[in-house]
Amino acid sequence: MKKIIPLILILFACLACKNESASIATDKAEEQKEQSSEKAEFAIIIHGGAGTILKKNMTPEKEAAYKAKLEEAIRVGYEALKNGGSSIDAVTKTINVMEDSPLFNAGKGAVFTNAETNELDASIMDGKTLNAGASAGTTTVKNPINLARAVMEKSKHVMLSGTGAETFAEEQGLTLVEPKYFHTDRRLESLKRVKEREAKKEGKIDTESAYFQFYDSHIKNSKFGTVGCAALDKDGNLAAGTSTGGMTNKRYGRIGDSPIIGSGTYANNATCAVSSTGWGEYFIRAQVAHDISALMDYKGLSLKEATEQVLDKVKKLGGDGGIVAVDKNGNMVANFNTKGMYRATMNDKGELTIGIYEQ
Ligand code: ASP
Repeated sequence: MKKIIPLILILFACLACKNESASIATDKAEEQKEQSSEKAEFAIIIHGGAGTILKKNMTPEKEAAYKAKLEEAIRVGYEALKNGGSSIDAVTKTINVMEDSPLFNAGKGAVFTNAETNELDASIMDGKTLNAGASAGTTTVKNPINLARAVMEKSKHVMLSGTGAETFAEEQGLTLVEPKYFHTDRRLESLKRVKEREAKKEGKIDTESAYFQFYDSHIKNSKFGTVGCAALDKDGNLAAGTSTGGMTNKRYGRIGDSPIIGSGTYANNATCAVSSTGWGEYFIRAQVAHDISALMDYKGLSLKEATEQVLDKVKKLGGDGGIVAVDKNGNMVANFNTKGMYRATMNDKGELTIGIYEQ
């Protein structure tokens, strides 16, 4: 009898385990069924940067201008997807609209470096093939996202930089411009303000770490303005892209997360497509875009859960910013740990949402 009692207990324990795993499996299956039964035909989501974007600092005209441009951009991608176009096309065309607008820190309107130049970065990824392309530190390519796409489609490489990238762009027949095309008075003013504050700060304390402390608090309190897009097309293919001028007053050839596949951009048909914006150094260290996909892939998290977990990680490291993402079923998430993020979504029913501030 003494031997039988433990055996019975083990048997009960095993049955309980089996039931538990069965119920987990059922939950997951139900969740998947629920998601797939709601599978959207296509979907598109964009951002125009995250940061300290407060209503009290916004005029009605400025707010209307941002909303109008976000809507114009997302409608271009929406139309492409509705007409059966690829997610890569939708992402490229949508980002082109924002790159051509001086409102955003990408293409025309890019922020200035410490040397008063504009150095642009971009990346794009195809979730079907896991092909990717990126360009960094260019000064003459009008639409850096087109260069990133050309790198992906027409070269053997994933990332090209500087003058080499510009030579490749010329060979590919992309539109080149004089560097001054990117200049805007507004961004030059921002640089001057930052430099003035920097000079004051450096006058008091002149150690390298003090510079970075200043740089940190400046970054925390600025708007970023990078642009990005993630889309699902009718063939079930996901794509994401990101384009930026980087950060005001950057120097020494600094490159942020935006052109880094896995940090600023990631897409995988098995999981999701993600574009990030924020304090690039932290987004690189946290491998934000790929980490979201990996949590879905390896741990079975939903897109929402995965983005929350990864942005928490960024926050714990001390960084801030946001992401837009769409999963393989067309579920869309815009998530950020800043005061605001310019953003918009459109689903296959043609429903549009636009947001700027925290909800
Ligand atoms: N992530 C970009 C960078 O660090 C900046 C931004 O998103 O606005 O270059």
